[in-house]
Amino acid sequence: MNPLRQAIKFTMTGLLPRQKWLVNGPRSANGIALTFDDGPHPEFTPRLLDELQRQGVAATFFVVGDAAARYPELVRRMAVEGHAVGTHSYTHSEPRQTCAKQLLNEVRRSLDLCGNLIGYEPTLFRPPKGQLTLAKTLGLWKLKQTVVLWNQDPRDYQGLSGIQSWLNQYQPRGGDIVLMHDIHPHCIAAIAPLVRLAEARQLTEFVRVDQWIQKPKREVSDLELQSIQKT
Ligand SMILES: [Zn+2]
Repeated sequence: MNPLRQAIKFTMTGLLPRQKWLVNGPRSANGIALTFDDGPHPEFTPRLLDELQRQGVAATFFVVGDAAARYPELVRRMAVEGHAVGTHSYTHSEPRQTCAKQLLNEVRRSLDLCGNLIGYEPTLFRPPKGQLTLAKTLGLWKLKQTVVLWNQDPRDYQGLSGIQSWLNQYQPRGGDIVLMHDIHPHCIAAIAPLVRLAEARQLTEFVRVDQWIQKPKREVSDLELQSIQKT
């Protein structure tokens, strides 16, 4: 990501509520969030799900609609095993060649599909390549989507050596959102070392992204408490 786009991304983070735009979670959080894009993949996604289960880690998947349609049982498995399911367009079309109307159509199709598969429409959206325009962003908000980006990129698509060198220098901070891809096998090997790195820093919770954007629960007032107790 070029420096200008990086600057815009973090400026937006400071200005917008987390329900609209999320680059990282609260720094006071007790953990980090692992996110996986571009799947499901028939071979690597099941292996990744096995490994997440072994490590006791919940994650967030941003599925591509046409892959979800091909491997619906994997999307169901994500949800059943306690992971959050978000969407990542229907065809992973190149952002610069995709107008707002086309992207929003793809999102609508993905939401319908996932809604049928898992029983609820996802509200987390990650744009392909992290690229959006104002018109696309406004359209996504109309569809009640939270735009979820990331602040840590292990570049798992560059292979095992790439992810290894990232792991060697990564210092986890509460609220980090880590970008990976379950269409590559390399992220699977990174889960156990990531868990150890985070736990060494007392970051013991692996958070689904949606846990950071729920609306704060309203405090019950003393008066309401009294009336509840009376009934
Ligand atoms: Zn992608």
